[in-house]
Amino acid sequence: MAQAADAALSSAGNPFAAPSALPYQAPPFDRIKDTDYQPAFEQGMAEQDADIAKITHDPAAPTFDNTIVALERSGRMLDRVNLAFGGVSAANTNATLDAVDQAETPRLSAHEDSIYLSKPLFARVRALHDQRAHLKLDPEQAQLLEVYYQQFVHAGVLLSDADQAKLRAINEKIASLETDFHQKLLAATKAGALVVHDRAALAGLDAATIDNAAEAAKARGLPGSWLIALQNTTPQPALEDMTDRATRQALFESSWTRAEKGDANDTRGTIATLAQLRAQKATLFGYPNYAAYVLYDQMAKTPEAVEHFIARLTPAVAAEQKREAAMLQAAIAQDHQSFTLKPWDWAHYAQIVRRAKYALDPDQVKPYFELHRVLEDGVFYAANQLYGLTFKRRTDIPVYQPDVMTYEVFDHDGSPLGLMYFDYFKRDNKSGGAWMSNFVNQSKLLGTRPVIYNVANFAKPAPGQPALISFDDATTMFHEFGHALHGLFADQTYPTLSGTAVARDFVEFPSQFNEHWALDPKVFAHYARHYQTGAPMPQMLVDKIKRAAKFDQGFVFGEIIEAAKLDMDWHALPASAPKQDVDAFEAASLGRMGLDTADVPPRYRSSYFLHIWSNGYSAGYYAYLWTEMLDDDVFFWFRSHGGLTRSNGQRFRDMILSRGHTMDYGPMFKAFYGQAPDIGPLLVNHGLNVTPN
Ligand SMILES: [Zn+2]
Repeated sequence: MAQAADAALSSAGNPFAAPSALPYQAPPFDRIKDTDYQPAFEQGMAEQDADIAKITHDPAAPTFDNTIVALERSGRMLDRVNLAFGGVSAANTNATLDAVDQAETPRLSAHEDSIYLSKPLFARVRALHDQRAHLKLDPEQAQLLEVYYQQFVHAGVLLSDADQAKLRAINEKIASLETDFHQKLLAATKAGALVVHDRAALAGLDAATIDNAAEAAKARGLPGSWLIALQNTTPQPALEDMTDRATRQALFESSWTRAEKGDANDTRGTIATLAQLRAQKATLFGYPNYAAYVLYDQMAKTPEAVEHFIARLTPAVAAEQKREAAMLQAAIAQDHQSFTLKPWDWAHYAQIVRRAKYALDPDQVKPYFELHRVLEDGVFYAANQLYGLTFKRRTDIPVYQPDVMTYEVFDHDGSPLGLMYFDYFKRDNKSGGAWMSNFVNQSKLLGTRPVIYNVANFAKPAPGQPALISFDDATTMFHEFGHALHGLFADQTYPTLSGTAVARDFVEFPSQFNEHWALDPKVFAHYARHYQTGAPMPQMLVDKIKRAAKFDQGFVFGEIIEAAKLDMDWHALPASAPKQDVDAFEAASLGRMGLDTADVPPRYRSSYFLHIWSNGYSAGYYAYLWTEMLDDDVFFWFRSHGGLTRSNGQRFRDMILSRGHTMDYGPMFKAFYGQAPDIGPLLVNHGLNVTPN
């Protein structure tokens, strides 16, 4: 292809051509231009092709070193550009990067296929796998060989040539539709913002939020109007405070229909095709559906295990939803209204009840959560108490956007551990939600240490104003930093097994576990201080936050269970099913859940469910619930062993956080917890007392 040839020619002096000279090999964002990515992808793939050809054509008999280790060492340039691009394109995209994404994603997918569908290369891996008992491998090496073998098999190397050709075509289509989905959704979410022309329609919102809405409208060329940008979830934060019911309904519907407008950003056609293609792919491998195909290497292992787990949670949540809906209907009556509760009313009346019951006003607590203080005196402090880590702000590391902050992380003995970036404020060119990933992965083989970023979408304060965040936002910071710890403590030889390269239904365990420390009395008292006076939060307010955390769980827990079930239903479709009418399929799925999906819609609707259509969480959204079971179990263990102590932290680091994917998850968990995971602490943590069966 001419474009590829031109790209390869112009890659001389490309900043990805050699390891970065910056500390920790951090990406040289001061030198990287948007136009560097595409040639780097092309050259990176060409270099890896050459690396792989050397392995495949090695005249020597296959050994662990000349085959498996050589695979681990291959494709360094591609890895560098992939990791940098992944970070920047998700957090700070533009038209150039979108075009690179669109052009390279199918090419990368085809490139990966060319490795994992290579029969001569697999012949070497298989020969080693056959002799594995005699190779004198250490446990990490044995695991690496097994992971490679399974990856080849699940990529389709054992398929006939005809089926492999089908698979390549399906994979390329899937990759390109996933990118399509992501870009349509970003545009749909931006375009779906609610614009109001009458300030009175925003009654109930505080002055700062209304000012922000006016600024946001001005920035979009709509002076004199107000614009409420959409969050990526079904519920929108402003629904809590808005007193005008018609505006609430309009905002809810803006959210619910954002990607179903019949315009260029409508995602329904894309996802109906994606669901079909995924089912067809599973069939090639002899699996009944896509969920069965993707769950083989997860902790849960089968769709049946997931369905069973969700089913055990449902009765307690359904009962709680019923109780809450009745309570909110009563609150509506008390408000001298006669309408029937609708989803756009739920958050507002839940807020009224919460205030009446706990007298907890979110605006009362925000002054105690200043972002930088939460980070340094909360998130970092907890990591210091548990793991002995210390942090030093760096202002000399180039960043991809001026709001990004960098810190160097030091281990308990003072030795350097890694580098971290924090990119917390919402931008129109940033994907919704919050996430963590690596710019550089830890590996003893490659001599690399972790370079990690945390990204979120908190409202950016007006210039000169403090960044006051909600307790939810503070919890998000602890969450993403829990992922970061999993990456920072990685202690693997081989990059494939390093740090957070674990199953989806395990990867949220360290992050959700770390959330628990946000409310630990010692940690909380250390960071929750008034941004002006430094006074600690009054104990009465602290107690209210703790009690309120267990409020409204029929909604909060329910909407996640519903999204998890919706995801499983989409990926339980057999290949023989016709192309689905998305709305009809969704309505049928929601209708048979046994939950109050009319009043509590799923946290993500099919048409804007980024996790499952583009972010690698297909048949995997349940993982948030599954891992919550794991983290609640482990936090229960911590509490019964003295809580926030260095020795507990060290034990968790040694047995879980430093292990990467060097062993199976079941035994790893059991070694720490003393038994298999159970749902008791999970239900208790949500304030649900119904005995499950
Ligand atoms: Zn997470």
